[in-house]
Amino acid sequence: MIIILKQNVQPEDTVTLRQALSRRGVVVQDIAGDTPMLGLAGDLSELSEDDVARHGCVDKIVRVREPYKLAGRSFHPEDSVFDISGRLVGGGNFAVIAGPCSVESEEQILSVARDVKGAGANFLRGGAFKPRTSPYAFSGLGLDGLELLKLARGKTGLPIVTEIMSPEYLDQFAEDVDVIQIGARNMQNFTLLRQVGALKKPVLLKRGLSSTLDELLMAAEHVMAGGAREIMLCERGIRTFETATRNTLDLSAVPVLKARSHLPVIIDPSHATGFWHLVEPMALAAAACGADGLIIEVHNHPEAALCDGAQSVTPQVFRRIMGKVERIREAIAS
Ligand code: PEP
Ligand code: MN
Repeated sequence: MIIILKQNVQPEDTVTLRQALSRRGVVVQDIAGDTPMLGLAGDLSELSEDDVARHGCVDKIVRVREPYKLAGRSFHPEDSVFDISGRLVGGGNFAVIAGPCSVESEEQILSVARDVKGAGANFLRGGAFKPRTSPYAFSGLGLDGLELLKLARGKTGLPIVTEIMSPEYLDQFAEDVDVIQIGARNMQNFTLLRQVGALKKPVLLKRGLSSTLDELLMAAEHVMAGGAREIMLCERGIRTFETATRNTLDLSAVPVLKARSHLPVIIDPSHATGFWHLVEPMALAAAACGADGLIIEVHNHPEAALCDGAQSVTPQVFRRIMGKVERIREAIAS
């Protein structure tokens, strides 16, 4: 159950309501956002709506079946549309986030940024802090990488999307980054989710390697409970028994997530497949099944990439994919 409080309600106006709820053993959670709300958890079977509505601070009561109250459609039936630095995302707008797995040098990021912009991308991706399986692998340029991304944004105007791994850099990301990426490995790092949510900035939330769609939505709920509203859900392939591809792209995630949630769904065909030549067919399939966008790894010299070269497409291939995606989108538009 969610209690929507009247606008301009002061914390002291809710004291009697909170006391009445906690006497019944109900856990009350403040939900940050423009409209003041309380989320109720625990055993609500004995709670009567009339008793709650009697309190002067209450505007509306919403019963929600799904555990994800902010991310779910029941409470927000329309698709969310976000304006992120002038780029519309969701509700029929198609986001294309492209760039290298990792920022490696000024020459590399500027060259890729110009190329992907020329091909029609509307966001630039690039890892400055990289989660790597091996502690000996290249783990990103850190804050220097962030500076290079800012330089590329300055030259191209493309908003930047980059992954945060540690709360240590929250202030820096709040200041510098347009869309904060939470990677697959951190999807259930609940402390990080909350802290990033509290920045109230756009977030790209990637599905965990072995997470269900409900777990992804609950992770989004954590970010939203922290205060953020502009969350893009990202399917990036899941672990299965199949070894022909790096992961298995779960395209049914698109219609399932869109039925359950109002948040835009972005497909990552690069991490999902692990091979550059599989990126195009999966990107087209994603566009065909109604995804709200793509995140694609593009490198100017994939064979020399410090991270994920095998799945990175060249700018030329990226341009071809963009053309075909456009045609698919025209074909399915009604
Ligand atoms: C990435 O986008 O470079 C990345 C590390 O992705 P994921 O968290 O999905 O593995
Ligand atoms: Mn990568």
